Amino acid sequence: MSYDPTNIFARILRGEIPCSKAHETEHALAFHDIAPQAPVHVLVIPKGSYVSSDDFHDRAGDAEIAGFWRAVGETARALGVDRNGYRLLANHGRDARQEVPHFHVHICAGADLGRMIRPPEKS
Ligand code: 5GP
Repeated sequence: MSYDPTNIFARILRGEIPCSKAHETEHALAFHDIAPQAPVHVLVIPKGSYVSSDDFHDRAGDAEIAGFWRAVGETARALGVDRNGYRLLANHGRDARQEVPHFHVHICAGADLGRMIRPPEKS
């Protein structure tokens, strides 16, 4: 799958769409999810153009990968959720129901998050 530069997170990175920023570094931008599924729900995205987890870990350089994951940790600390705990989640592809085709990691926190995986809703 090739990268679609019109995806919503690419537009946020270009400043075309506003976001509620939580943290920013050379390699990553973190912002609050528009439809939070936990009291704290923040997305961390790399600044480079990567469709998914697989694309990022295949094509990104070592400095980008290290910088991205360091930013995930920094974001959690900046949010103050490192003490009580948080969940990291990255959806890749169809079966994980990835919606936005720009790699992102969800940080969810702020309450007991329950079981790790819920069964899919019936459609
Ligand atoms: P995915 O299912 O791709 O892992 O998650 C995409 C996430 O992006 C969803 O949690 C959704 O609420 C969030 N999202 C979609 N559009 C926007 C937007 O325009 N702004 C923000 N802040 N989050 C968005």
